[in-house]
Amino acid sequence: MSGVGKGITTASLGVILKSKGYGVNLVKVDPYLNVDAGTMNPTEHGETFVLDSGLETDQDMGNYERFLGISLTENDYVTSGMVYRHVIEKERSLGYHGKCVEAIPHVTDEIMRRITSAASTDRSDITIVEIGGTIGDYQNALFIEAARILKVRHPEDVMTILVSYMPVPGTIGEMKTKPTQNAVRQLNSYGLHTDMIVARAPVSVDKKRKEKIANATSIPAQNIISAPDIDSIYDVPINFARDNIGDRVLDILQLVHKRGEHDLSEWKKFISSIKRSQKPVRIGIVGKYFDTGDFVLSDAYISVIEAIKFSAYGCGKKPEIVWLNAKKFEKNSSSLKTLSRLDGIIIPGGFGETGIEGKIRTIEYARKNKIPLLGLCYGMQLMVVEYARHVLGWKDAHTTEINPKTTYPVIHVMSDQEKKLLKADYGGTMRLGAYPAILKKGSYTETIYGTNKISERHRHRYEVNNSLRMEIETAGLVFSGTSPDGSLAEIAELPRKNHPFFIGSQFHPELLARPLRPHPLFTSFIKACVKK
Ligand code: GLN
Repeated sequence: MSGVGKGITTASLGVILKSKGYGVNLVKVDPYLNVDAGTMNPTEHGETFVLDSGLETDQDMGNYERFLGISLTENDYVTSGMVYRHVIEKERSLGYHGKCVEAIPHVTDEIMRRITSAASTDRSDITIVEIGGTIGDYQNALFIEAARILKVRHPEDVMTILVSYMPVPGTIGEMKTKPTQNAVRQLNSYGLHTDMIVARAPVSVDKKRKEKIANATSIPAQNIISAPDIDSIYDVPINFARDNIGDRVLDILQLVHKRGEHDLSEWKKFISSIKRSQKPVRIGIVGKYFDTGDFVLSDAYISVIEAIKFSAYGCGKKPEIVWLNAKKFEKNSSSLKTLSRLDGIIIPGGFGETGIEGKIRTIEYARKNKIPLLGLCYGMQLMVVEYARHVLGWKDAHTTEINPKTTYPVIHVMSDQEKKLLKADYGGTMRLGAYPAILKKGSYTETIYGTNKISERHRHRYEVNNSLRMEIETAGLVFSGTSPDGSLAEIAELPRKNHPFFIGSQFHPELLARPLRPHPLFTSFIKACVKK
């Protein structure tokens, strides 16, 4: 079932197998026809997670990278769109030599080719592939068929895990296993037999129910693993370890249990830093991608939230995230005063016009009242707009993304992007992925990184306009990071003597923050917030 926790299950199992001395790779399969996740609405689908290579992927890839502390590659993400596109292009170039091209075997072959190539990286002894969607969906049926064929061809090397939800209806108060039994049966009807069940439920599965499922499905009770609801997703590997999921997987795959390699100590240290962090630090995130119907979803900003957490825990503080709706500050500027109750503010990335003026007002308030402020991508661009309007007096300064006719286009479209926009060539065409940047000697940002050469991940079409850059800099906003040739502004900052923390980055540092390796920009931001 979607949203049941397959991503966290996959990532947590990865942590456990790694702790047992095995190299692990993780692969996400998304059955939709979008070629990548870059064109999807963040309110409905959550954040787009960008890899070093520039591939725009599902937010689960972010969880994978964070849990395992690795950088994944293009091979590790597969969509139906990618698979079909490849098959159709191959057909168009006579790659099937006159054969009739069919879903089976051509699409399933292409799926298997991708999975096997992802599995053959140096870093992996074991590759865990997460298939998105629910058993019974038409959309993922070919991926399940490909998994079945892989298992038939390599019976000792492939195993199947079903992540299933076991509800405890409030009116009955008893855990129901029937939906899981039916899901196993349905999977059996595809010819794919489950070796293990991860039982997602509000509470742990008791012995009686494990036995009941075992009887109904032929899966040994010891291979039914409890995955109860918990406060923090980072507790999941520890919880899994209690049910010995790692040993069970090694048994099924007939791999040796290595001695002395059961090392979850770093992970446990991180968990105890969460528990130890009691004093709050209040961070406001001014966004717009979180109201859907009656629900507030924060998935669109998941990497930002996690990056805040890692740095806050690292400083012994408990992060309290306050969602600020940018639109509110537009209607009612007296509500800006509520910002003074925050320790710091983050303006995350985004696109389009909604809430822009509210964000600019927030930036102005934080600059004048010396509230620590971190701007990410669009956030950085709007910091430049704010500075141009209120310090340089360029009243209608703007980004041409919103106002193409402004007298002061302080942010404008990158020259190579213009043609793409005219052709409506939107998919996968932004400036994407890891690029190096050079930091100015003696700048605040250089002190923070402790080096003047960095590499960070990007996702943007617009940039600071070089023809106005000098004037802005002369007025005090320092462009302390640029591309190596100096042509693209990567960081805007106010010197530390003028503001405790006023830094914006054209890149997305949140994409490289890891639990065991918090990001220096976020850590310095939190430190400034704590001092305030
Ligand atoms: N909309 C801006 C651009 O395309 C910022 C993008 C972002 O925040 N990821 O440049």
